[in-house]
Amino acid sequence: MSGFVDKPEPLQVPGLVHLHTGKVRDLYQTGSGDLVMVASDRISAFDWVLPTEIPDKGRVLTQLSLWWFDQLADLAPNHVISTELPAAAPAEWEGRALVCRSLAMVPVECVARGYLTGSGLLEYRESRTVCGLALPEGLADGSELPAAIFTPATKAAVGEHDENVSYEEVARQIGADTAAQLRQATLAVYSRARDIARDRGIILADTKFEFGFDGDTLVLADEVLTPDSSRFWPADQWQPGRSQPSYDKQFVRNWLTSPESGWDRASEQPPPELPQDVREATSAKYVEAYERLTGLAWSPKGANGA
Ligand code: ATP
Ligand code: MG
Repeated sequence: MSGFVDKPEPLQVPGLVHLHTGKVRDLYQTGSGDLVMVASDRISAFDWVLPTEIPDKGRVLTQLSLWWFDQLADLAPNHVISTELPAAAPAEWEGRALVCRSLAMVPVECVARGYLTGSGLLEYRESRTVCGLALPEGLADGSELPAAIFTPATKAAVGEHDENVSYEEVARQIGADTAAQLRQATLAVYSRARDIARDRGIILADTKFEFGFDGDTLVLADEVLTPDSSRFWPADQWQPGRSQPSYDKQFVRNWLTSPESGWDRASEQPPPELPQDVREATSAKYVEAYERLTGLAWSPKGANGA
């Protein structure tokens, strides 16, 4: 079992139709057919959406995505229309909601990896490949790859794992042309972002993008380059051969798997509430990632305090 510990009831907002409650985001549709994407403070770990929210997390995700969309605008068109919300939007959506173009989403998680870890490392240990791509011998947890690779995954339902698939399988599912476009765009955006992050002392080990079509145009959608969709490692602590410290849910995972939580991951029981210190430390990590990457001071209502 997994999924939501407590699935929230969607807010009813006049003039908007609620479409979907994802693990982290809620999607609404406006009268003109655009989307309103609202990033909540929900956090997921071990395929569970936890019962505890992380203060400001949704705003950090939204503001960081916006900042990245700007940095990447010449490489890939994106789905953002506006940060101006419909008049009826509740005050708590400020800084966390975006009006976006509604796209025909491509059902592939477009992952780029420049370093070996996670599911890539597991596959490498079995077969010296990642998503079927052969890699050199002798790589360890956290090793830099000779070149960044496109390692797509199929999108799983809430509570299930995404599954790595070969490029050939993606081409079979969505067509060779679209697969080639996805690979090209994923690697181009990843390399730009990796270079920007590196200049700020952060290793972008890997990241996941989602794309959709607006007519014939492939558009970068969803969130981009946040701690939820990426592994960011402090460069000065990078040391291949062990798991790397990272700017994300590490406190949450560490606590949940410690005896202190009383939770057994294998038990099928829902995970417990997080203690206050874990909540606050996690919130601070998300803010720290935002500040280090953007060079801006965090302000809860958005980058400019607007
Ligand atoms: P799921 O939808 O499977 O629950 P998830 O748990 O990752 O996925 P969230 O990331 O919280 O959900 O919600 C965002 C959802 O919005 C994703 O399903 C994503 O594919 C979709 N999405 C993002 N951008 C767009 C867009 N421009 N048009 C249509 N759908 C989009
Ligand atoms: Mg998602």
